[in-house]
Amino acid sequence: LIVFDQVVKRFGDLTVLDHLDFSVAPGERVTLIGPSGSGKTTILRLLMTLEKVTEGHIWIQGEPFSHMRRGSALVPANEGHLRRRRKRIGMVFQQFNLFPNMTVRKNIMEAPVHVLGVGKDEAAQRAEELLELVGLGDKIDAHPTQLSGGQQQRVAIARALAMRPEILLLDEVTSALDPELVAGVLDVLREVAETTDITMLCVTHEMGFARDVSHRVLMFDQGRIAEEGPPEQIFGDPREERTKSFLKSVL
Ligand code: ATP
Repeated sequence: LIVFDQVVKRFGDLTVLDHLDFSVAPGERVTLIGPSGSGKTTILRLLMTLEKVTEGHIWIQGEPFSHMRRGSALVPANEGHLRRRRKRIGMVFQQFNLFPNMTVRKNIMEAPVHVLGVGKDEAAQRAEELLELVGLGDKIDAHPTQLSGGQQQRVAIARALAMRPEILLLDEVTSALDPELVAGVLDVLREVAETTDITMLCVTHEMGFARDVSHRVLMFDQGRIAEEGPPEQIFGDPREERTKSFLKSVL
């Protein structure tokens, strides 16, 4: 579904992703782990089209994503191309970024109605279903400021799912939360993982969560994949020194 082909990302002299190759299958749930600054968030930002590749290509479902075809050549994608392709991808950030002046219901309906052109009744119905899924059916008319951080993050998850994305990107979604609120958000994501076939790419420091929900773990170091494998192997029997020392520092 997603293919990174020799992707390089530089900020000035700093090489953040270094000829990175990896692919993600449809329905696969992949967790990215590794030390701070190893490039994990940059991968999600490239897929959200918040950054552009310096070299290499990203493909989604066999179609160029970072680029577009012009005749037989590939040229960097323009804004219109990126906007169309980005609709298939949902992202939840560390900071929930809800619209503070809108009710929870409106927050969830906004993009489906205005970006996808879904009818208001249908969008409202879907908002109700999604709020049930994240356990906040009774908060539909609340404003974000009336909710705890954990509840706001659950609304942000519902909002991302309202766009019916094929791919859900999760960037350290629990790291801004008080410890007692983390479990509720992770439970919602486990539920999403179990009840949908959505492809998930997840940057997290929650190793227990990574172990439970992911099919595959990619360990990053200095913009490259140092080791990858199923969670049982990465957490239970890591082969690379780099992985061992990283896990020792976080577990
Ligand atoms: P963390 O776990 O701390 O979020 P990460 O593995 O997600 O780390 P990235 O956020 O992808 O790492 O950042 C990789 C490197 O790129 C870091 O050194 C960061 O300072 C740098 N970087 C990221 N965005 C920019 C930018 N817009 N301009 C310059 N440098 C940047």
